[in-house]
Amino acid sequence: MRSLDISHVALRRRRTKIVATLGPASSSDAMIEALVQAGVNVFRLNFSHGTHEAHAANLERVRRASARFHAHIAVLADLSGPKIRVGTFEGGGVDLCVGERLTVTCADVLGGPGLIPSQYAELARDVRAGDRILLDDGKLELRVESSAGEEVRCTVVQGGRLTDKKGMNLPGVAVSAPSLTAKDRADATFAAARGVDYMALSFVRRAADVVELREHLGPAADRLGIIAKIEKPEALDEIGPILDVVDGIMVARGDLGVEMPPEVVPIVQQELVRRAIAMHKPVIVATQMLESMVENARPTRAEVSDVAWAALSHTDAVMLSAETASGRFPAESVATMDRVLRLVEGYQWQRGQHGHVADAPHLHGVLPPSVALSRATSLLSGDLGVRAVVVLTRSGTTARLVSAARPAAPVVALSGDEAMCRRLNLLWGVVPERLPDAKPDDAVAVARRMGLANPGEPVLLVWDASGEPGASRPTVSILTA
Ligand code: PEP
Repeated sequence: MRSLDISHVALRRRRTKIVATLGPASSSDAMIEALVQAGVNVFRLNFSHGTHEAHAANLERVRRASARFHAHIAVLADLSGPKIRVGTFEGGGVDLCVGERLTVTCADVLGGPGLIPSQYAELARDVRAGDRILLDDGKLELRVESSAGEEVRCTVVQGGRLTDKKGMNLPGVAVSAPSLTAKDRADATFAAARGVDYMALSFVRRAADVVELREHLGPAADRLGIIAKIEKPEALDEIGPILDVVDGIMVARGDLGVEMPPEVVPIVQQELVRRAIAMHKPVIVATQMLESMVENARPTRAEVSDVAWAALSHTDAVMLSAETASGRFPAESVATMDRVLRLVEGYQWQRGQHGHVADAPHLHGVLPPSVALSRATSLLSGDLGVRAVVVLTRSGTTARLVSAARPAAPVVALSGDEAMCRRLNLLWGVVPERLPDAKPDDAVAVARRMGLANPGEPVLLVWDASGEPGASRPTVSILTA
């Protein structure tokens, strides 16, 4: 048997994108610049925390850093959704003991021993005897004994200290709260007016939740991409219709692993990545990827494997949360992720795992021409060993379809529109490049100028000669740099 070859070379152009959450640890020009230099492609503004003023200031910082480094960095506004939380307690918290009987109340009161206030007014109406109430990301657990009026009588199954405003999850309970809360509406209007590139909706249960956000945004919805955060079991039952109406999904493993047993999360993640790619929609794998780097300069081996596994499954993007928002090592976390991804991608590339073609939903046995051509382009990229796939894209559709076929070479997406370049920056393997009035004749020069192709090397050009937006019938040409 031959020895194990681990001399794989990190890819120069990383294919998997990095989303980093901004927060107190990263809300400065200097840190945002450091994060961009370390490799961030998309910044997340988390509307579960922070004021509108703080988010607006960060958005401006990102725009400045993006211009400084010509980086087309996108901004994703993440709406909090109907996250259920406990209220506040006398002294800031309360200790729960296993077997203790207590009351969860919907009344607006201060909590204390034996009494937990809930900020969710319909709690007593939604739960039944036997239901589980999980607190603080599932660390604590209550069993419902009975509910009447505004009060739910419970027994503590898993004890511990419960502090102010911790999250409350009701696995298996049909929660009647609307997906788009009054706060989400105000935050969405604010973020859209500021020109964010993506908007994520939390706790999506069905396609109608996404449609509601689109309708609320009105014409502004056409200028940004909507991402459904998949963190409720109901969303898994509706994933087909949800994928039809969104511009991307996020595997929100934090709440998903509380709403469902944690051991199913890896399988759900794998299936969601596969389904999203098959539907040509970007997918972000999120939460706790390098969690120990909140405190430590080095990740655990298991965390490195988690990031590597996400890349091996060809996800579009991986996300950092507390690591960059409140951790001690924001730039080191991004740099670590970047190194892991580029090395894994180098391994995949050497093994010929790029330029392979993902599953595609065949309609009546055939594919639309644009999808079929993207898949053919991906095969050509591997078979011909091309250095770049240059795509002329107006609506972004051609670049998205080519990216979804996971070609072997970087996808240089030429667009005259800076906002389009930012949106395309979330997609696997896409290198957005702003070029007003880009023409087919520009392809070779751009690939050479970007250092992707040397004279004599093959380059693919994909464009839609019909001139109609939406890439109904693109063509592919083999060029020589
Ligand atoms: C998650 O639950 O994994 C997630 C990404 O959402 P949030 O960080 O908003 O809780």
